[in-house]
Amino acid sequence: ELTHVPRRVTLELHGSGRVPLSLKAKNLRVVVTGGAGFVGSHLVDRLLERGDSVIVVDNFFTGQKENLVHHFQNPRFELIRHDVVEPILLEVDQIYHLACPASPVHYKFNPVKTIISFFNVFYKTNVMGTLNMLGLAKRVGARFLLTSTSEVYGDPLQHPQAESYWGNVNPIGVRSCYDEGKRTAETLSMDYHRGLNLEVRIARIFNTYGPRMCLDDGRVVSNFVAQALRKEPLTVYGDGKQTRSFQYVSDLVEGLMRLMEGEHVGPFNLGNPGEFTMLELAKVVQETIDPNAKIEFRPNTEDDPHKRKPDISKAKDLLGWEPKVALREGLPRMVSDFRQRLFGDEKESVG
Ligand code: NAD
Ligand code: UDP
Ligand code: UDP
Repeated sequence: ELTHVPRRVTLELHGSGRVPLSLKAKNLRVVVTGGAGFVGSHLVDRLLERGDSVIVVDNFFTGQKENLVHHFQNPRFELIRHDVVEPILLEVDQIYHLACPASPVHYKFNPVKTIISFFNVFYKTNVMGTLNMLGLAKRVGARFLLTSTSEVYGDPLQHPQAESYWGNVNPIGVRSCYDEGKRTAETLSMDYHRGLNLEVRIARIFNTYGPRMCLDDGRVVSNFVAQALRKEPLTVYGDGKQTRSFQYVSDLVEGLMRLMEGEHVGPFNLGNPGEFTMLELAKVVQETIDPNAKIEFRPNTEDDPHKRKPDISKAKDLLGWEPKVALREGLPRMVSDFRQRLFGDEKESVG
């Protein structure tokens, strides 16, 4: 299906010093795979806002049309139901490749027999899906951005984690399908970049939260917020002393766009260095939603990283980017969105 005519079809040599397109650049043809998901839908909002034409490619595995319904009347917006595991022909300038079954519930909790097909879906998306998007980028000379993850650092022995750290990943553990799938996607991206001079960008995203997060996807922020709103106890896994660093979604989207428009391949850590234990996070959720919310301890999952905090010096230096929204500021915005989706009693807030 040939949707558009290519605008920029020449591949440029690595290090050839191309002039970065401004963040205000207009009229690009952009594909966002996984654009019906949490992060993708916020990215689509920003791209359309600055005047780009956006094609979302999504199979709705974890994403939903509701996240994009406000664009359905926009002639610059197109939504294609498609699994990136299958090849696709499009003519575009940029590809943001976010498609990935990102919810931890699937790989952490279900007994192996019921999720063997999930592993399969996971690897196919990360390996074959990424390969197809790289093939597409190669054919039309588009710039390609991969959303990798802080999980490539595994249970890190270096703290905070800089991009130069190679990580500590258990290749045969319960969460390896995610870690290793993304590591392979990074490898493929770098091979296409080095071997074919493809313009590639790699973001390593740290834990991100905000409006439109899946309600029951099992991630800690969405769990705690939904639990507090439903008057259920907050489930803290393990002793709750493990740490994560939580980034508000608008900061991430700004970082992704700066990375795409900039001159540097990466990888770049995109995350908020504000580090919290899960017990501290539970406390912030209590303060924000319900001071009487109870805490319930549950056994932790295998191979759970003990600490995670991004070193973002590289993104600060080379992209001029750093997060602006602190947890105590971002959480209330997410809460009003969750409240609205759970009970429908508040005006939707997507900021
Ligand atoms: P999400 O689940 O909300 O979005 C992923 C989207 O990809 C969904 O819309 C889903 O339907 C789609 N998708 C999955 N498999 C597909 C396939 N085979 N073909 C087409 N579409 C497919 O997750 P998110 O939090 O928005 O994550 C977006 C990206 O950012 C992912 O690549 C994820 O690995 C990465 N990331 C997110 C976080 C975070 O904290 N949110 C952290 C690290 C990395
Ligand atoms: N591909 C795609 N859309 C395109 C171009 C390629 O989906 O516009 C797929 C293609 O089907 C292949 C993958 O991308 O499976 C890698 O393509 P590439 O040309 O790099 O490798 P090759 O096809 O030579 O194996
Ligand atoms: N976690 C928790 N309670 C929950 C869900 C998760 O205490 O209801 C913990 C989990 O064990 C991990 C941390 O929160 O230590 C972050 O988990 P999440 O799945 O959100 O992200 P990831 O492990 O991928 O960083």
